[in-house]
Amino acid sequence: MAVERTLVIIKPEAVKEGLVGEILARFERKGLKIARIRDGRVDRALARQHYAHHADKPFFEGLLDAITAGPVVFAIIEGPSAIAHVRNLVGATNPIEATPGSIRGDFARELPFNMVHASDSPETAEEEIRRFFGEGA
Ligand code: ADP
Ligand code: MG
Repeated sequence: MAVERTLVIIKPEAVKEGLVGEILARFERKGLKIARIRDGRVDRALARQHYAHHADKPFFEGLLDAITAGPVVFAIIEGPSAIAHVRNLVGATNPIEATPGSIRGDFARELPFNMVHASDSPETAEEEIRRFFGEGA
């Protein structure tokens, strides 16, 4: 089992609803480590870059509005197969399809407000870690 790192963003709606501790606790209870953590914001330029692969989608501007709406928490989560474990704990993209027991299944109601971003591959994880924690991270 490869030790991996993945980038998690606790989105503005989750910070606003007071879910930061609850969400981080789920990763820790799984045995994953919080390697780095900081608060901050995603500005519109960074949001366009982060979600560039969705630029042609009808929901793109609404997605930018959502991720820039307020403070977020950025975390690097680390452990064996961390990318897949975190995606499983987070649940399906659409809150209507996310299984109860997952973060989105338990707390999210409607797209684009699904509480958490999590990297989807080793390549995007490293790119996103550099984007939000700097080149040396
Ligand atoms: P995930 O975050 O599960 O990796 P995607 O990469 O497909 O999902 O999409 C990025 C984000 O865009 C989602 O987390 C969600 O906030 C938003 N999004 C995805 N699909 C839709 C949609 N059909 N309508 C509105 N927002 C969406
Ligand atoms: Mg994605």
